[in-house]
Amino acid sequence: MSPAVMEQQSEKAEALTPGQVIAKHQKQAPVNVVAIASDLGLKVWAMRSLPSNISGKLFRDPLNGGTSGFSIGVNATEVFVRQRFTVAHEIAHFILHKDKIENGELIDDTLYRSGLSSKEETEANKLAADILMPYPLISSLVHSGIRDPQSLARTLQVSLPAMNIRLGIPPAE
Ligand SMILES: [Zn+2]
Repeated sequence: MSPAVMEQQSEKAEALTPGQVIAKHQKQAPVNVVAIASDLGLKVWAMRSLPSNISGKLFRDPLNGGTSGFSIGVNATEVFVRQRFTVAHEIAHFILHKDKIENGELIDDTLYRSGLSSKEETEANKLAADILMPYPLISSLVHSGIRDPQSLARTLQVSLPAMNIRLGIPPAE
């Protein structure tokens, strides 16, 4: 294969919109958030060095980052489903708010506050939920017999509170 042909093919792969990249990885549970990040040109690092009040960050990483020049860091001391949500939240910031990152990094505390507006944090949380818990996938799981929120949460590798919110179940008092 000539280099010219290869270049054309890689251009074609990059022509996928973020929405198409996400959809490609939502056909089976659990949604592979690291693969989505990777396809968007982001490297994901599980970091033990992050302070306990920080859940994750999105940062310019020209040397070790993915093809976008950015990386995502997640706090490796948090539980796995939480780390997955953080990766999805940072992917959302990358897609929606990349232009607003100051000083090359955006750091989210454990309440997902990064210095962006609360509207932008809500947008990132909404897209993160859309990434991890797509309604078509939930519906096909329900049809296959996985019906209760706990089983759905386990299958999608999300927290039960996140699953309940997604299903419109009010939190317990
Ligand atoms: Zn955030």
